[in-house]
Amino acid sequence: MSTLGIYIQVPFCASKCSFCNFSSRVESNTIYSDYAGAVEREIAAWPGIAPAPGIPADLLLLPVDTVYMGGGTPTLLGAERLLGIMHALREGMRWGAEVEFTIETTPGSADIDLLHALLEMGVNRLSIGAQTFDDGELRAVGRLHSASDSVELVRQARQAGFENISLDLIAGLPYQTNASFRRGLEQTAKLRPEHVSLYLLEADEKSRLGREVVRGGDRYHAGAVPGDDFMADAYEFGREFLGSEGYAQYEISNFALAGFESRHNIKYWQLAPYLGLGAGAHSFDGTRRWSNQVDVQAYMAQLDAGFSPVDSCQVLSGEEQVEEFFFLGLRQACGVDLNVARERWGAGCLERWEDKLAQLSREGLLIREGERAWLPPKAYLLSNEIFQEFVATPA
Ligand code: SF4
Repeated sequence: MSTLGIYIQVPFCASKCSFCNFSSRVESNTIYSDYAGAVEREIAAWPGIAPAPGIPADLLLLPVDTVYMGGGTPTLLGAERLLGIMHALREGMRWGAEVEFTIETTPGSADIDLLHALLEMGVNRLSIGAQTFDDGELRAVGRLHSASDSVELVRQARQAGFENISLDLIAGLPYQTNASFRRGLEQTAKLRPEHVSLYLLEADEKSRLGREVVRGGDRYHAGAVPGDDFMADAYEFGREFLGSEGYAQYEISNFALAGFESRHNIKYWQLAPYLGLGAGAHSFDGTRRWSNQVDVQAYMAQLDAGFSPVDSCQVLSGEEQVEEFFFLGLRQACGVDLNVARERWGAGCLERWEDKLAQLSREGLLIREGERAWLPPKAYLLSNEIFQEFVATPA
């Protein structure tokens, strides 16, 4: 039977990191209660207020087996507000027997009391944005914490009782060197989180630092961002290092000890249904994608007025769904099972892709064995270009 993932967006942070391309912002904490109340109202009102055209009312019949609170920095809301959201979730959703419940946090935004409170309310996975264990690099991107704060947060989380911790690291931060990157990985291995996400700095228009790198400027320490060669070497080194420490790479950016893969994130790559709540949250029911108002005030105003906060909804054609099947599924180390596509979209749904699969295979960018296809690790750094091949439906 199909199950449901819940994503809750909390778009507030204590400071805005220069590299951040998420829709999070620094707000006075006076807004936190109103926002948490709005999320609770959205949960309670769903699906009554949701049916912007085409949004299915029966999604909540599915049992919830993953909850992910991300952002932003959800722990800024504090125990009481988080508990309110948690109660609303338990009241409004069909709760499965075993729920993976993740909350994202940053060092400095969760003390030991909050960690205990989170465990009590059912959170069982803590995702910590460490990013780097070098204080100079942390300062350069505007983080408010030190490397030792990250170490201390992991220690406190263990002491509180968390048995599933994920650490985020970034390769390519300003001033990062091979040595500092390696030290960060060694420190990570010492802390022994169950899960590690290793991202490459994205130099694009969506962040202050990215924009500055693109225009060749020097603000936000953009001139100290290491080049593409560093990025590629760091990623390959990170993959090997984490592998040697027992972390299996199960997705382009994600590594886990056995049994600790993120069940919630796997839903995204396998086109499983999830419901997003909160400002800017995205949802997917298998055929439709929709998203809420990204502007926090507009999101809250819609709910205050008793209206749906959904502001866009797209019904995917069968062909678009098959494209997503490839460019999301191929992110996973296990790749895609072509039989799954045939069962879901019909026996002929792959015909138009056979040439593309054969071409990528000839170029050594894809491995196909029987009904399974996956990217070889040497192609991971080219994955964005490979996925582009699956975006435009061939004529
Ligand atoms: S803490 Fe995370 S979400 Fe917040 S600004 Fe930094 S990177 Fe973005």
